[in-house]
Amino acid sequence: MTTTTRYILKKLSPCPDCDGIGVLAHPKWRRYHDWHDAYRESHHNCSPSDDATNTWWSENGYYLNSRPDLPPQEIACYTCSGTGKLEQDIDLRSALTALGINITYSNLQP
Ligand SMILES: [Zn+2]
Repeated sequence: MTTTTRYILKKLSPCPDCDGIGVLAHPKWRRYHDWHDAYRESHHNCSPSDDATNTWWSENGYYLNSRPDLPPQEIACYTCSGTGKLEQDIDLRSALTALGINITYSNLQP
């Protein structure tokens, strides 16, 4: 049995889902901002009143009197678990090719 040594590198890339910052807007806050933006667009760029805002939150399970219970505005990214990076094992040939280095040695097997 012949064994060969393979070199594996770690490729760290910025997470595409959070652009490398590790956090995402909470889904409820994303919907709130979408509603807020749509409201302004349909009301000549005026922001919703406090009453309209409170109504939106109460219709979505939150109440003004319990504002501290609102969800956090940001949550850890699901894709990268909040690290902002994606880690991937790649072989040496792939790494060199990605760096623009063309290797033709036959002992570098993929
Ligand atoms: Zn991420």
